[in-house]
Amino acid sequence: MIAIVGAGIGGLAAGIALHRAGYAVEIFEQAAAIGEVGAGLSLTPNAMKALAWLGVEPAVRPLADEPPQQITRHYASGELLVSFDRSDTVARWGAPYLQIHRADLHAVLLRHFITHCAGKVHTGRRLISLKDRPENAELSFASGETWYAQAVIGADGLKSVVRRALFGDDAPRFERFVAWRGLVPRERLGALELSPGSAVFAGPGRLFVRYPVRHGALMNFVAFARVETWAGESWSQTGEVAEPRAVLADFHPEVHAILDAAPGGRCHKWGLFARDPLPSWTRGVATLLGDAAHPMLPWFGQGAASALEDAVVLGRCLLANGPNETIDAGFRNFERARLPRVTMLQRESAAGGERLVGMRPEMLSNASVVNEDSLGIFAYDPVCASLTN
Ligand SMILES: Cc1cc2nc3c(=O)[nH]c(=O)nc-3n(C[C@H](O)[C@H](O)[C@H](O)COP(=O)(O)OP(=O)(O)OC[C@H]3O[C@@H](n4cnc5c(N)ncnc54)[C@H](O)[C@@H]3O)c2cc1C
Repeated sequence: MIAIVGAGIGGLAAGIALHRAGYAVEIFEQAAAIGEVGAGLSLTPNAMKALAWLGVEPAVRPLADEPPQQITRHYASGELLVSFDRSDTVARWGAPYLQIHRADLHAVLLRHFITHCAGKVHTGRRLISLKDRPENAELSFASGETWYAQAVIGADGLKSVVRRALFGDDAPRFERFVAWRGLVPRERLGALELSPGSAVFAGPGRLFVRYPVRHGALMNFVAFARVETWAGESWSQTGEVAEPRAVLADFHPEVHAILDAAPGGRCHKWGLFARDPLPSWTRGVATLLGDAAHPMLPWFGQGAASALEDAVVLGRCLLANGPNETIDAGFRNFERARLPRVTMLQRESAAGGERLVGMRPEMLSNASVVNEDSLGIFAYDPVCASLTN
């Protein structure tokens, strides 16, 4: 049995991929129950190819929105600075570019996994220690239980306990940005006219992003601002929408119309944290995946996409294992195949924020923007990518 720690996007996708590769899997999740958490996230063409291999693309597609364009406006005047047509994404990249509520994607992955592996997601299991030995791994949970596994995958996010057990404690580094996010029911926006797809308002040291999810029933927003210190570190911390309103006081009226409509004047807030790329993620019979392996800043929206890519490449590496090869040999191939790609994503994501808010907005244009197209992020295909890097 292979134990996966964490039933987030990466852990569930890995569970599906490992089942496809013929392995017995048990997934352990710290949350007492799996509920509706998070807001919007992007499923770029590289992520959609991963979802197709995992067999969930047909279930995801009707739940997601396909933005016809992505634009960037001047934070105060609203002047159009950058505009990318996304209507030709399938023709250019072989898969669509979608935006979805994280909870909807998560629910599809969970449903698919438990359809094939009933009773294999164990909630209320917070891993507190891991002992990896050459022959097996011992997992101890806060619930008092101990499990033994042939191999372990740490898909336990930014504050990964598996990563700490394998490689020591390199505390995540605060990247001097705070973010506020929320979901506004469309009817709360009244007659406000909004351009279709996603829009970014770029200002000095600050940024506001909005795009619809659930076919326009909800407007997803995220505001980012440079700050010097941050104490919290969680996806579930809440705050007053008055905070981003004050920080973005000089932003366009459209931004304020959306912030003003946040239900109960509340939103979520979190600090942006990063870690330096690791030279290796695998030790003995354990490996890491998703944010546990390579957390990245959100500027290219590749956090979930890269976790989905990981799951597919991991599944392919285990499928390609010869009859005499061990699981850890498959893990090492996985790591070799993935390191160059995710190291590039981590580095470019780290530079992306500075590019967006560090330059005068007037300097932004289609020609000056370094984005997913120019970096080849969308061109990657986890289903065909070489396994022999
Ligand atoms: C609650 C939540 C809300 C999010 N909302 C958004 C969003 O709105 N937009 C967006 O772009 N990204 C969001 N993300 C992040 C995004 O899902 C990830 O960056 C990306 O999908 C990579 O996924 P991952 O599986 O590696 O990590 P995560 O999605 O963070 O999943 C990690 C999982 O491991 C579990 N876990 C952690 N520690 C332990 C432990 N010791 N024992 C057992 N289980 C453990 C966590 O509870 C979680 O379910 C959210 C993440 C979480 C956890």
